[in-house]
Amino acid sequence: MTAKARIDLDAFAHNVATLRDRVAPVDVMLAVKADAYGHGMARLGPMALASGATSLAVLEIPAALALREAGVEHRLFAWLHAPGTDFTSAVDHEIDLGVSSMDELERAGRAGSPARPAVVHLKIDTGLHRNGALPEQWPALVERARVLQSEGVVQIEGIWSHLADTSPHDDAVALGAFNDALAVAASLGVEPPVRHLAASSAGWREPGARFDMVRFGIAAYGISPFGDATGHDLGLRAVMSLHTTVLGASAPTGHHWIAAGFGDGVPAAAVGASVWLSGERASVERIEIDRTLVRSKLGVPGEPVVVFGEPGRGEPSAEEWAAWADTIGDEIVTGVPARVEREYVSGENR
Ligand SMILES: *Cc1c(COP(=O)(O)O)cnc(C)c1O
Repeated sequence: MTAKARIDLDAFAHNVATLRDRVAPVDVMLAVKADAYGHGMARLGPMALASGATSLAVLEIPAALALREAGVEHRLFAWLHAPGTDFTSAVDHEIDLGVSSMDELERAGRAGSPARPAVVHLKIDTGLHRNGALPEQWPALVERARVLQSEGVVQIEGIWSHLADTSPHDDAVALGAFNDALAVAASLGVEPPVRHLAASSAGWREPGARFDMVRFGIAAYGISPFGDATGHDLGLRAVMSLHTTVLGASAPTGHHWIAAGFGDGVPAAAVGASVWLSGERASVERIEIDRTLVRSKLGVPGEPVVVFGEPGRGEPSAEEWAAWADTIGDEIVTGVPARVEREYVSGENR
């Protein structure tokens, strides 16, 4: 066997329910971008909706259309649009559109009709500068949306923004800017039902940032958005674990090669890393494209190895690997390449 990523559906359902309970009665939109952070959107999207999320967020319209194709009937939100994107198919399939500019708004209006208006969430830039209307553009964007809504071609469903999560202070400043934008919109007669700002970090710890809906991503995959607490500390469970086996190839005394390398998502830059072998941690000495050298007196060829998994069982976590590789846990799980087989387990099969 080479490397295999095991996806624990029970752990994912537990995490989504934990997030829902934490923010109730506020709704949970589950972010399944980047193929559900590498876990597989087709399996985890429907699972999230069955476990307490009421809607899903993707980046691009094609991913939302794929979910519709797979039979998902809940609210789907797409907000990253290439210049000139035609919104007709999104409107036809009732995809909610994040709208950041007058140009996007006009195209949404052209794709909508009184029979089926384009459902839009207007985005204000609260300091992240990724997209969204700048404060000086905001009144005109809101006013134009109001006119298009009165013509019946647009339905203003939401106002939203995204936090940088760099510091509580920056988030507080952004929260103030968001509240200002809501007040400006209200003064123009626009008070949509779904105001949303927070992702995992502020959604978990800032009740004042939750508004009507939190867009949770990484926390649902069992990885903490905080530097000072692990997912395990938050009561979340690891969803993805990366498995391989001890190779028969000869290795220096007291060492083994294991059958996973950076081509399988083992971060090549990791320093001081370890894997789980024979019930203990074995330190990593060298990472190659398809194999990794670990120090262990135990271990026999064919024996299973966990590269990262559930810290509650002693296994190194994706967060530990992130620290060893000087990155974030998101990159560890999303970085396991698509060619590594995903094995979905639940209940008896776990
Ligand atoms: C990725 C993303 C989220 C989820 O963020 P996490 O920090 O992973 O919870 C929410 N909203 C938007 C716009 C995003 O891009």
